[in-house]
Amino acid sequence: MVEPIEYSEKVKDHFRNPRNVGVIKDADAIGQVGNPVCGDLMEIQLRVEDNIIKDIKFRTFGCASAIATSSMVTEMAKGMTLEDALEITRSDVADDLGGLPQIKMHCSNLAADALHAAIQDYMDKQKSGVQKLDENEYEVAVVGSGAAGLSAATVSAYMGLKTVIFESGTWGGILNKMCSARLIENYPGLTGKMSPAGLTKTLLEDAEKQEVDRKEEDVSSIDIEQEGDFKVLTTEVGNEYKARFVVLATGSIPVESGVVGEEKFAQNEGGVYYLSTDPSKLADKRVLIYGKGYNAVSTAECLSGIVDSITLVTEESSFGVPEKVMDKVKKIEALKIMTSTNLLELQGANKVEKAILQDNTEDEKLEIYVDAVVLVSDLKPDIKAAEHLGVEIDESGFVKTDKHQRTNVDGVYAVGNVASDVDLLIVAAAHGAIVGHDVYNRLKAQ
Ligand SMILES: Cc1cc2nc3c(=O)[nH]c(=O)nc-3n(C[C@H](O)[C@H](O)[C@H](O)COP(=O)(O)OP(=O)(O)OC[C@H]3O[C@@H](n4cnc5c(N)ncnc54)[C@H](O)[C@@H]3O)c2cc1C
Repeated sequence: MVEPIEYSEKVKDHFRNPRNVGVIKDADAIGQVGNPVCGDLMEIQLRVEDNIIKDIKFRTFGCASAIATSSMVTEMAKGMTLEDALEITRSDVADDLGGLPQIKMHCSNLAADALHAAIQDYMDKQKSGVQKLDENEYEVAVVGSGAAGLSAATVSAYMGLKTVIFESGTWGGILNKMCSARLIENYPGLTGKMSPAGLTKTLLEDAEKQEVDRKEEDVSSIDIEQEGDFKVLTTEVGNEYKARFVVLATGSIPVESGVVGEEKFAQNEGGVYYLSTDPSKLADKRVLIYGKGYNAVSTAECLSGIVDSITLVTEESSFGVPEKVMDKVKKIEALKIMTSTNLLELQGANKVEKAILQDNTEDEKLEIYVDAVVLVSDLKPDIKAAEHLGVEIDESGFVKTDKHQRTNVDGVYAVGNVASDVDLLIVAAAHGAIVGHDVYNRLKAQ
């Protein structure tokens, strides 16, 4: 029979109520150790002021002893000079815990080693002249707050990196503009359980929890500092921020469909909108939706009950969606469907008032009165912010990246719709997570 392992009361207490768990935002040093035999992993982060350990936090993956020793060592080292903390041994930690079972002494008592690794990291950085970051300086700056940008920012901050995220439009990007009434059907783990608004809220809460700095500013240019290893981000209001790593998460923008009058009415709330428009802007209006496929049909579904009336128009002979989807759409009140019909022109004084259509079956021109037109056209990557950085773009307009989402410009990443035609929320979120880990590993290796 296997003998049960006896733990001291102090070990049990530190295991049940571990002290100093977590990460330090913009930590001065990080130490990690692991035991490949038992699989225990420990990480200790430090904030050091005047050679004193002012703050210390840990994250440990392991058994009760591993967690208790990590917790204990942080209590012992807090407030010590670096030299004194280096003197703490594995035995000291075990003694202060009232002893550890013999079997755990070599396997799980690694906390002092993690502490020493963190102190060594701090001393190495001091020697190599790594400087502390000022107020507007960051390790990671993310441009764009869609699913990709929020994920990159949250994971970077979770890894202990000082992170800022910029948004020029709507926090949450396309996700926050999707029809709020429906549930997301293809996000593993959340399928059918979460609305776009709910997921946006959760992503923003995650970023806040990790203390990501949020700036409601449009990044108008990104430049590489001549001397030093920073990128300089200038925003439209004239503010300047610096970051060691920049993540382009600027998503996509609609391709113009070329209808006469589109350009005029797409500006200054003139009545022309695109797929990613906030539906509340169309409340109580007579709306014409022009496009094809599932996006056109789902836009109609999304606007039902919000707008006054909908005319759903496609130049094709059908919308190309399954019959059962179309049957559902046909039940929408105040909806008219027109197939094989082209939108030729939009007319009006300052705002769109009239749409000129060509019915190709009857070969006749029609005029209908509308207050708003939603053009369900294709989307293209939004590369404006990256233009003079010199990032490589592929033949379809996407920013080229490697498997870590790195671009050809050192320290610049691209994630989500600006970098990939796999237009899925889960992919955008995964890109962000890849970047957070890659930046962390690169900084650790420096
Ligand atoms: C109608 C519709 C329905 C969809 N439904 C689904 C679905 O059900 N399931 C699914 O998996 N996927 C769906 N998708 C795809 C999914 O929405 C995208 O893959 C995902 O939202 C892309 O996220 P992103 O972060 O790359 O870009 P975006 O969400 O576009 O975010 C980019 C952000 O960057 C900001 N930005 C751009 N330039 C700057 C700048 N210079 N400075 C500051 N900020 C800037 C923009 O304002 C924007 O908020 C749908 C897409 C659409 C259009």
